[in-house]
Amino acid sequence: MSDDGGGGTGAPQSPGDAFALLGNEYRAEIIRTLGDAHGTEGPRPVLAFSELYDRADVDIATSQFNYHLQKLVGPFLEGTDEGYRLRHGAVELYRTILAGTYIRDASLEPFPVGADCHYCEAPIEARYDDRRLVIGCSACDREYSDTTAPPSIGDGDRDALLARIDQYLRHRILAFSKGACSICANGLDTRLLPGEELAGAGANQLDVFVHRSCDHCGAQQYMSVGLALLYDVDLVSFFNNRGLDVTETPIWELEFAMTDRHVDTVATEPTRLALRVERGGDELELVVDGDLTVVERSTP
Ligand SMILES: [Zn+2]
Ligand SMILES: [Zn+2]
Repeated sequence: MSDDGGGGTGAPQSPGDAFALLGNEYRAEIIRTLGDAHGTEGPRPVLAFSELYDRADVDIATSQFNYHLQKLVGPFLEGTDEGYRLRHGAVELYRTILAGTYIRDASLEPFPVGADCHYCEAPIEARYDDRRLVIGCSACDREYSDTTAPPSIGDGDRDALLARIDQYLRHRILAFSKGACSICANGLDTRLLPGEELAGAGANQLDVFVHRSCDHCGAQQYMSVGLALLYDVDLVSFFNNRGLDVTETPIWELEFAMTDRHVDTVATEPTRLALRVERGGDELELVVDGDLTVVERSTP
């Protein structure tokens, strides 16, 4: 292994090796150039050395360029007879670079999301700062969502921003609500936590929180029972049959998902919680156990 963390073939031996390999502006530019060449369609392109060198925004000799290029071959790039292309892992790295996760600061001034607080009826607003995206009340201290998001979330069409935020949150929530880590795809531990056992902001917001955590990467989420059941097939069809598509309605508008007014403890040994939702004079009841598995359904 060379003095700056290797090169050659195979994965870096440690995170330090990987970051050391990338700690160079020319190597980052090579990854960006190959990623840009990919665009949004088709297979990852292979660029011949001369083409890669011409496209890269660098001001160094070809020999020096080749030196840095060869450091990336193996861990981040595939070298073939035709040229070079990003490995799949490096495609993720390229996207992270473009998302600005590590190199950009961005913030969004609080702006209304078009719905009122389920507790005090003041406007709910969204705000983004220091990579935290918060959906919360503009008057009281209720928060409906608090998640990390890359600075690029504020880019692009501002009119569609709220819809994109909603779908971004759902993508994070869906994997977690189904028991899989959205970061590392590991299985999650599930616990029901009484609000009184929680410390910190928002602890008094719900009587019971669903806490799901990944012991592999440390990611975790707290959510209501209603939000954890948002993609239950009976719940989705119950609302859909009564004129409400809960897969498209912004989550902050869904009272059953943002509060626990519709959740009751029906047994403690073993734990049984009931979520009861109403629409059009009908009621759907889902009873879950301590792992959030639905053990009873009463459909109208
Ligand atoms: Zn409020
Ligand atoms: Zn994880």
